[in-house]
Parts: sequence; structure tokens; C-alpha cells
Amino acid sequence: MTSRVYLPAVAVAAVAAALIGVGVATEWGGTDFAGSVDTLQLVIVGPVSAAALAAILVIERVRPAQRRPLASRGARQDVLYTILHATVGALLITALSLSFEEVLRRAAPWVVLPRMGVVPRGAAIVAIFVAMDACNWFVHLLNHRIRMLWRFHELHHSQEDLNALSVFRTHPLIAVSYLLALIPGVVLLANGALSVTLLVIYGTVVAFAHSNTNLGFGPLGRIVVSPNYHRIHHRLVGAQDVNLGFVLTIWDQLFRRAVFPTPDTVRIDTGLPGRPLRVEQEGPRPRHLASFMAQMVGPFRPMAQPVDLPTVRAERQELVSSGGVRR
Ligand SMILES: [Zn+2]
Ligand SMILES: [Zn+2]
Repeated sequence: MTSRVYLPAVAVAAVAAALIGVGVATEWGGTDFAGSVDTLQLVIVGPVSAAALAAILVIERVRPAQRRPLASRGARQDVLYTILHATVGALLITALSLSFEEVLRRAAPWVVLPRMGVVPRGAAIVAIFVAMDACNWFVHLLNHRIRMLWRFHELHHSQEDLNALSVFRTHPLIAVSYLLALIPGVVLLANGALSVTLLVIYGTVVAFAHSNTNLGFGPLGRIVVSPNYHRIHHRLVGAQDVNLGFVLTIWDQLFRRAVFPTPDTVRIDTGLPGRPLRVEQEGPRPRHLASFMAQMVGPFRPMAQPVDLPTVRAERQELVSSGGVRR
């Protein structure tokens, strides 16, 4: 069996199925499922998100990091991922989110804080926003550290033509790991909730960070993730477990994983060394659909031999042992 399938990936799919089973059995905790899907679709491809995306595409053309056609192979492939997330992905993420929140409320009702009169609603919303970003950072780190999760996250890093739509280039099942980021919202449920507008802003910053734009945001780039900052996370050469932040860089700085851009890093190549996962850039023709299918089943395929990608810790240790840096 293990020679045909990578079993830990099947376990991730099983967790997703079990969660959704609970969601169905509890009727999504009384939440309107269709309404929740509509809200998520509004965040992913609603008019405001679409307008923001159009603006990013223009900025990409004006200040490109790498010169390439608008409809490059990689960008065309990411259109498929955008369609996937606006349809099946939105259904799956809604089902997982509602199920997870219901499990959390039932298993640990004490995590939901009561309404605290002294805490202004705005402060609670800021707290949810910042805590959610911290959780996303932590889950992203786990995606890089745990092989079972990396096999799903690998797809995101396989993009060699990084572009705004690469934000959607993720395996739908990786959403299981990011459910942790819903916890702050459940904890502070009685005190405030993130609006669609805030979620659209959050998503837009993350999409912009993936765009093929040469922008570092000046001094603001020390705090907010810019395209030049996030490209380093996708670099082909060197450790990729740096610059894991979604919107704020502070988590990377706190845990010594921030690598700030320099003129040398603005145009660096992105992707995975040795192409462990099939990519559309291979061969004379992109064969988008065949590549897409291969990328979807990729995590479930057995690994020929485990490849240990360079980590920032190993790189640091190497530098120290070679006398390159002082401690
Ligand atoms: Zn990553
Ligand atoms: Zn990314």
C-alpha cells in the first residue's frame, strides 16, 4: 500500500472527511451554510476583490519584478486554481470552517469568552485580526516543518512565474491545517467579528504580496509583507522557511526568520529545486489540465526518496561552523 500511496496524506483527507461528517450531523451548528459560502465567495471573487486584483495586475505591468508576458504559463495555471477556489474550494473551506467551529464550541465551550463590556468592539476586532495573522504564520511554519503538510504546501512553492493569482495556488486540503487560525475568532465571538471588508483587505494584501511587482513598501515594509519580501519566501535557491508572514512581518522578526529584501533579491527566481512536483513549465507544451491533475494527486503519491529542503536553521549552523558569523 505504502508503495502506491503516501498514507499520511490520506490521513489529512480522512480528518477533513470526519470533520465534515460532524458538520453535516450537527447541521453546521445552526449556521446558514449557503449564506456562508456566498460570503466566502464574496471575499474570494466578489466585486471589490476583483477590482483590487485588476489594480494589482496593472501595477504588476508598471513595476514588474521579472519581465514576462501577462499570460505566462504559470499565470495561466493559476487561473485554474482561482476557478477551483471560487467553486469547489469555497464549498470545502466553508464546510471545514463551520464544522471546526462547531467542534470547538462543543468540545471546549470555555474558549468562547463572554461579552466584556470594558473592551471596545474595535479593540476586539484588532485583536482577532492580529491573532489570526499570528496563527496563520504558525500554521505556515508547520506546513514547512511537517512533511505530511509540506506535501500539500509544496504546490504553492512550485510556482516559477510568481503572480497575484498564486495566492490561490494551494491544495484545497491544506485548509485543514489553517483551521487553527479560526480560533481567535471563536474565542472573541461575543465581542466582535471580522467583517467581509476586513477579510477582503487581508486577502488583497496577501494577493499583492504574491504579485510580480517590484515594491518593498519603504519603511512600512518593515511591518507589512510586501511583494519584494514575500518573493524571498518563494526563492529557488536558499531556505524557504523564512518570511512566513501573511500580512505582518513581526512574527518573522520575533522568531528570527525575517529576511528583508535588497536590490539583489528583487528579481530572484522562484520555484522548487529539482521540480519534485510536476509543473506546467516542464516540456515544450504546458498541458495545463494534465499538470493540474498531477498537482492535485501529488501529495498522495509515494515519495521516491525524501528530499530535505534547506532550512534557515541548517544554513545558520553552517555559517556558524564555517566561522561566517559571530554569535
Ligand atoms: Zn511556504
Ligand atoms: Zn506564497
